[in-house]
Amino acid sequence: MCCGAPSGSTRLNAVSHFSAGSFCPRFLCKVWLAAACPAGGRMRFFGCLKKNVYLCIVFIVFIRMENFIVSARKYRPTDFGSVVGQQHITTTLKNAIRSGQLAQAFLFCGPRGVGKTTCARILAKTINCTNLTADTEACNQCESCRSFAEGGSMNIFELDAASHNTVDDIRELTQQVYIPPQTGRYKVYIIDEVHMLSTQAFNAFLKTLEEPPAYAKFILATTEKHKILPTILSRCQVFDFKRIQTEDIVSHLKAIAEKEGVAYEDEALHIIARKAEGGLRDALSTFDQLVSFTRGNLTRQLCNENLNLLDADYYFRLTDYFRNGDLSGALLLYQEVIEKGFEGQHFITGLSEHLRNLMVAIDPATHKLMEMGEALRTRFGQQAAACGLALLLRWLDISSDYEYRYKDAGNKRLFVEVALMKLATAVTNP
Ligand SMILES: [Zn+2]
Repeated sequence: MCCGAPSGSTRLNAVSHFSAGSFCPRFLCKVWLAAACPAGGRMRFFGCLKKNVYLCIVFIVFIRMENFIVSARKYRPTDFGSVVGQQHITTTLKNAIRSGQLAQAFLFCGPRGVGKTTCARILAKTINCTNLTADTEACNQCESCRSFAEGGSMNIFELDAASHNTVDDIRELTQQVYIPPQTGRYKVYIIDEVHMLSTQAFNAFLKTLEEPPAYAKFILATTEKHKILPTILSRCQVFDFKRIQTEDIVSHLKAIAEKEGVAYEDEALHIIARKAEGGLRDALSTFDQLVSFTRGNLTRQLCNENLNLLDADYYFRLTDYFRNGDLSGALLLYQEVIEKGFEGQHFITGLSEHLRNLMVAIDPATHKLMEMGEALRTRFGQQAAACGLALLLRWLDISSDYEYRYKDAGNKRLFVEVALMKLATAVTNP
């Protein structure tokens, strides 16, 4: 980290300079003329019309790419109220700010992409705001808030300990800590991936962390809490960030899809959210990728195809074959799945998951244990009612047994086929 310049704002400044400065119309015209009409200037412009058309397309694509901002950045929450799925933390932080009982050091732990750095930045902005709202949020209008929004605040310092983990990096930081803030009340130091600091760097940091000046606040963030030394842990107020619930991710994606004018099926957003396994940033990057692949039309089928997932339809059909004792139907369906390029392990794990969902679909009280849209839940409920609990349990028993033993099987294909035979004959041979 360079002295005096917050790394976060440096990064943001660099981005805005690049897109605003490098692509002004005058600059583009010059490049265009130089590339398309090297010898005769404008006179030859029409002479090489074809070349101009190609260049035009390249420039448009390039400018569009340049203006594209990933959703995770474009929709990054700017106040506590808009943070997704971490109310237990934002409420505690707001209460601490309101009562003036802020700790000197915080440790934000939790999986990646759940909002640790975002919360750290919001906390830094809020405690420096000179005109807090009644709800203890930053006003977004005072001088301090504006400088945060523009990425020019001198009161926030970010250090990525994954790439800056030496004693010198920490020494550089601790030297700055003793210089009081020129404007605003607090200087906030955010150290990301703090578990990556070397032991010597940790030791160099301890003293400052123990007795910091009143205006200095430290926010340490980590994905691996168990690697943090007890001496550091005991000096910090610890906040555990949760994986974000699928339903919370879905409603966030819905709001973004509506703002961006993206057409979507409810189930498509559930597929994205389930795949992200509680990480909002992962969900947003999959969302961006799929919006681009599907040209802004997120259907369940297109999402499954692009994410290489086996559509739930296969398992619904397969379960019907089992129920009717139709072994040939089950074997032919498996052939279809193999031809699509899916692995046997993937197939059989998906089958167990489908049967598990059917089991919890029997009782409406446990419907909330299924992370999916309403239409699909109803479909599960109907199939579950047709099968009955006893049969489902017998199937689940067989499929989980074969799933467990799959990795040791010699002939994988035959192994799955035997499993299908057992499942399809379970109705008649209890
Ligand atoms: Zn403010």
